[in-house]
Amino acid sequence: MSYNIAIDGPAGAGKSTIAKKLAERLSFLYVDTGAMYRAMAYYFLSHHIRAEEEDRIREACGDISIDIIYRDGTQRVLLNQEDVSEKIRQEEVGNMASATSGYPFVRQKLLNLQRSLACSNDVIMDGRDIGTAILPDADLKIYLTASPEARAKRRYLELVQKNIPCDLEAIKRDIEERDDRDMHRKIAPLRAAEDARILDSSDMGIEEVLSAIEEMVRENRKEEKISGEPQQKRENR
Ligand code: C5P
Repeated sequence: MSYNIAIDGPAGAGKSTIAKKLAERLSFLYVDTGAMYRAMAYYFLSHHIRAEEEDRIREACGDISIDIIYRDGTQRVLLNQEDVSEKIRQEEVGNMASATSGYPFVRQKLLNLQRSLACSNDVIMDGRDIGTAILPDADLKIYLTASPEARAKRRYLELVQKNIPCDLEAIKRDIEERDDRDMHRKIAPLRAAEDARILDSSDMGIEEVLSAIEEMVRENRKEEKISGEPQQKRENR
């Protein structure tokens, strides 16, 4: 049986950086579910569909196929067979993903793909609803968060390093807007699963977060070995 780790949390909390490194160390597959929502958003944007146009988005879902492949251990996202892994990283695509991920047909489209990856591989999957909706029986659930100020500052430094002009206050506003949308949507809102371990990384470095999670994995695997079944499944009974 595969071992699944779910990492949820708001934008900019460091989920993908942490999940990627952790996956390398544990030889797990890293599944970035945000990239799937972004690929769908990229399709809508490139077809001049606005986020409010619910009918057009529903219809477009029928024309979209999303696939995930791994090249040299790195996840690539295919949108109708085209590798869009780099194109989906723009801010505009992230905002469109956030604005369209509340539609049930958009979420439904990605559900099976996400579950089937977790069923056949040891995965670290990051997103917003992994522990609550996609993998409610995950072996370990982590809710990785940080203050909006800390998240905005990280994003700002990242952009400055890439020589991309940006404004700290505008980034913070964007982050807060995205949090608000992700946390208050009707379907699969962002929240910590009841059995998730909460980790606030505002004052923690990458290595510190990684060691904390590695320790949780070690502990959890020891417990599962003793009991012979996943801890989450026992607690859910
Ligand atoms: O994590 P990332 O910034 O790439 O995600 C982009 C958007 O996709 C999020 O703001 C969120 O609205 C949506 N998303 C989601 N559920 C997930 C992953 C991402 O709704 N599991």
